[in-house]
Amino acid sequence: MDKIDLHIHTTASDGKLSPEEVLKLFSSKGYHTISITDHDNLGGWKIAAPIAENYGIDLIPGVEVSTQYRNLDVHILAYYMKETEELIEMLNETRLARANRAEIILDKLWHLWGFELEMTQLEEISGSDDIIGRPHIAQAMLDKGYCNSLQEAFDCYIGDDCPAFHSKLSRSPQEVIGIIRRAGGIPVLAHPGLLRKGGIVREIIAMGIQGLEVYYKKHSKEQIDHYLNIAGNNHLIRTGGSDFHGFQKDFRFLDKSRVPQFCVRELKELKGIAND
Ligand code: AMP
Ligand code: ZN
Ligand code: FE
Ligand code: FE
Repeated sequence: MDKIDLHIHTTASDGKLSPEEVLKLFSSKGYHTISITDHDNLGGWKIAAPIAENYGIDLIPGVEVSTQYRNLDVHILAYYMKETEELIEMLNETRLARANRAEIILDKLWHLWGFELEMTQLEEISGSDDIIGRPHIAQAMLDKGYCNSLQEAFDCYIGDDCPAFHSKLSRSPQEVIGIIRRAGGIPVLAHPGLLRKGGIVREIIAMGIQGLEVYYKKHSKEQIDHYLNIAGNNHLIRTGGSDFHGFQKDFRFLDKSRVPQFCVRELKELKGIAND
């Protein structure tokens, strides 16, 4: 069985495993088609691309771009995009915005609870050239003993509804969908089931998204059926993935990937690539 996972993070963003460790792990678990979709950054894919074949893996170029819409963090996956000037500029800008936002969150943690955390600590955890995400802040808090688990950091301090949360300054979905499509990429709405406002999926479809991440790890059977319907009615491709970050809980899902073969077929057909 050719297992598939089209949504994976590495150390190039906020994942725990390096790109090569990801290739090794997924290959050992029987995966043949995967995509490394780091947040706002192509670094992980670039390292993995030249060595993927050694692991018998068909590596689909990918990235997960953060956008902002109606006060929500809307994630858009892009597959097969070329590195156009505007795409690179967008990713560079986001990296800077993420660093600024991390400083604001550290500031809030200091003022609200007296937690002493430094940007240098976050840079050490994330790797100097890589993007900084909230999981790095959670790790820094854990390292310093300010919380007992990464989850506690999100639940009590830096989760979306918590006092020390600060949103990233990111672009609108319309703009990002345009940049991806002009780069020859295929934009797919990531984990639609996690969007907490009704109606958003339809609005994003109207903006020119080309696919839905139907088979997301956290989607229930009902959600999968619901998004299959929406994809069918709107001529969207269907994709799927686990959002693997290398956290302890992520390993459990490796053995039971349920992403169907047609996800890769539809992606490749839309891109005009022969599916072998
Ligand atoms: P950022 O892009 O910096 O806002 O961080 C987003 C990442 O933080 C996601 O990809 C998840 O890995 C993690 N995350 C966000 N919210 C939670 C939560 N409530 N519990 C655990 N992890 C979370
Ligand atoms: Zn992440
Ligand atoms: Fe996401
Ligand atoms: Fe993700």
